[in-house]
Amino acid sequence: MAFKNYKFWFATGSQDLYGEECLKEVAEHSKIMVEGLNKSGLLPFEVIWKPTLIDNVSIRKTFNDANADEECAGVITWMHTFSPAKMWILGLQEYRKPLLHLHTQFNQEIPYSSIDMDFMNTNQSAHGDREYGHIVTRMGIERKVIVGFWNDETVQKRMAGWMRTAIGIMESSHIRVVRVGDNMRNVAVTEGDKVEAHIKFGWEIDAYNITDIAEYVEAVPEGEINALVEEYYDKYELILDGREPGDFKKHVAVQAGIEIGFEKFLKDLNYHAVVTNFQMLAGLRQLPGLAIQRLMEKGYGFGAEGDWKTAAMVRLMKIMTGGMKAAKGTSFMEDYTYNLVPGKEGILQAHMLEVCPTIAEGKIGIKVNPLSMGEREDPARLVFTSKAGRGIAASLIDLGNRFRLIINEVECIAQDIPMPKLPVATAFWKPEPDLATGAEAWILAGGAHHTAFTYDLTAEQMGDWAASMGIEAIYIDKNTSIHSLKNELRWNQMAFK
Ligand code: MN
Repeated sequence: MAFKNYKFWFATGSQDLYGEECLKEVAEHSKIMVEGLNKSGLLPFEVIWKPTLIDNVSIRKTFNDANADEECAGVITWMHTFSPAKMWILGLQEYRKPLLHLHTQFNQEIPYSSIDMDFMNTNQSAHGDREYGHIVTRMGIERKVIVGFWNDETVQKRMAGWMRTAIGIMESSHIRVVRVGDNMRNVAVTEGDKVEAHIKFGWEIDAYNITDIAEYVEAVPEGEINALVEEYYDKYELILDGREPGDFKKHVAVQAGIEIGFEKFLKDLNYHAVVTNFQMLAGLRQLPGLAIQRLMEKGYGFGAEGDWKTAAMVRLMKIMTGGMKAAKGTSFMEDYTYNLVPGKEGILQAHMLEVCPTIAEGKIGIKVNPLSMGEREDPARLVFTSKAGRGIAASLIDLGNRFRLIINEVECIAQDIPMPKLPVATAFWKPEPDLATGAEAWILAGGAHHTAFTYDLTAEQMGDWAASMGIEAIYIDKNTSIHSLKNELRWNQMAFK
């Protein structure tokens, strides 16, 4: 998960009408603001101050420099004074990276006793930002608008969230997914137009034979396998369930070999996400279970049964949450079975094997169990339950002529009743606004059984990413009503072609 040392540029707009004294003050103010933002400790990336933009030439140059600077992940714009927006047109037209319009002002309070017309002319964001906002809207440019005092924690936290979205936008353009196995058993929702995904999102989705991975796995030296098995044995609880310890260890060692070999393949060929298919495993002794769980934990995307869309979405979420302090986790997930008891409604989430241990609560165990489907030897897998708390589940679907992203806010509930016979990791969540409405909305919107799930991003962030990609986003949250949702879906069919 190593990225560039991304930075965000802070560009303050003004004009030369008000004289040197005013422009000096504008520059001083914006320097103080940039310093304050960086010192807040709330922003995940550094903000870089840029000289005040006062004309067509400086604006165009700044935006083009931002395009060319590999470490620049976006430009934050703010109009300290009025700034006639025709001079912004060319620069904005040529700009290609994420754009934030921070609608703020240097002073928090109106200085009632001293305010005069000089102050009003120097401090007129309420005026200047409307002129600037108008041209961005007229030009149809996707941007984020955040309103409020720049030194306010709420504003800074929203800026931090937008920065992570911007990193997602920047990095999305070169996510590379390796498919070892196609879409499985005629499933519809995991299908999609890979060329269109490359055009829309920048994703490269390439097919390999599973035997290419198997060769890497075969070549892993025994010493490396034994060392990794020792690591597993130190880190995880062994749940033998009556299995002979030597036999158990042999099964675990197969996954260690797959983890090492698979990761070497991904590194050698520069892939960031993996798609498997449990019916196409030639050359592998087990379905990658524990191995895939560990790769997801390291930041790789994953989608089961040929599901490349979810694999790329999981990778995208891993990117957007990269380096986050106190992150609670991000995983591939699948809606499995319901609890329909009144007051306890929710969906038990799991997969055959592949749930990411970053979402685990408490201890993680290793089990070796037969697959109820598939045809290989019993795979080792990590088992655990998941943290309580709010999160989002996202499903990217292909509607034939376009993509739709469905985002459901969910509440994960601690599972205090043991499920001793279930040999997989699980989570249990209640979708917003309630199970019946949330699931009805999800089904009407065409959402899949597979999701990319995270505790650490908001629906707003994923929706902003979708907007930036030019695709439809459907939010299912506490405000969802079926009546409005059906209209929204109907109208969006006209809006998105
Ligand atoms: Mn599945």
